Amino acid sequence: MEEQSLENLTLSQTLPLSQDSFLQLWDNVASSISMSTEGAQENWQTEGPVDMLLLNGQSFPEGFDENLFNIPDVSSKDGITPPSSTVPVTTDYPGDHDFCLQFQKSGTAKSVTSTYSEILNKLYCQLDKTNPVEILVGKEPPVGAVLRATAVYKKTEHVAEVVRRCPHHQNGEGTSENRSHLIRVEGSERAQYYEDVHTKRQSVTVPYEPPQLGSEMTTILLKFMCNSSCMGGMNRRPILTILTLETPEGHVLGRRCFEVRVCACPGRDRKTEEENHNKIKTEAKPQKKRKSVPAPEPAPVKKIKSSSSGDEEDREIFTLQIRGRKRYELLKEIYDGYQLLDKEKSKTKTSIKEPLPLPCSGKRLLKKGERSESD
Ligand SMILES: [Zn+2]
Repeated sequence: MEEQSLENLTLSQTLPLSQDSFLQLWDNVASSISMSTEGAQENWQTEGPVDMLLLNGQSFPEGFDENLFNIPDVSSKDGITPPSSTVPVTTDYPGDHDFCLQFQKSGTAKSVTSTYSEILNKLYCQLDKTNPVEILVGKEPPVGAVLRATAVYKKTEHVAEVVRRCPHHQNGEGTSENRSHLIRVEGSERAQYYEDVHTKRQSVTVPYEPPQLGSEMTTILLKFMCNSSCMGGMNRRPILTILTLETPEGHVLGRRCFEVRVCACPGRDRKTEEENHNKIKTEAKPQKKRKSVPAPEPAPVKKIKSSSSGDEEDREIFTLQIRGRKRYELLKEIYDGYQLLDKEKSKTKTSIKEPLPLPCSGKRLLKKGERSESD
């Protein structure tokens, strides 16, 4: 009906005062709706939720309500606390307490169940596996401070939706109160699970504990209870985890965010995504820096010098930081080889300059026709 009346309007037509035409339109719409729903009207009255969904519990106005668009100014009224924001803030904010996160370096091996990419500020983990997150503060927060973890969809088109577990995994947990919570805190009896009354967003808190003697940070253990691919849950939509440091009253003192992917092969996925990221980076022209604070680059690595000339140069000590045990062991083997070579050299200082064979094997190759000494 609306479309029809719009079609009838032509540019040459002299328009009546706009208010009049809208009133007319409203009457038309109102009468058409009440006509088409007369049968269902009774059901609406008895079934509250449907009624509320449609019109917030108000009966359909007979005529055009001129106060319809006059939204009451809630903020000006005293004593009314503003509802928590619908979309959580996802920008990093170290605050006065210099709130920081750190992740353990677990590499990209196949077997790894949790690994963090500094380049992508992204945690890769398996479903229901422990993720240690290290909390650092420059200044101790007030007594009773808590840490809160909240999940939120990363992309704008999904951000309005609350992150929950998929129905399948929820049902798997029976009647547990927290069964719909994606993020869990492990190893603390004092973990508390919340659902915001207004936004329905879920979060979990633990009391902030100062580092134990001799340690710089405290560690909390997070678990994610659905795969990123879970149908009816995250459904392949990337999420961010927001960690906030809060006063007992819920005032935010610091905030840190990181992306999370829950998958079967965290190591493999991290490797692939980092490689893709680097490819894009080298292909694309230099761009503006990412909004989020970039992860600190590893300290510049000094290479072991293999130069054999000059005793002083050989005595100089360098430190080499290596990510990943496999690489470390490989490089250590090479280094040990050099050490052995050095030893051999000092033993046979007077002898030939010919490079010594690596003393890794005690056996000698037997040439064709040659007899072994023991024969
Ligand atoms: Zn699931």
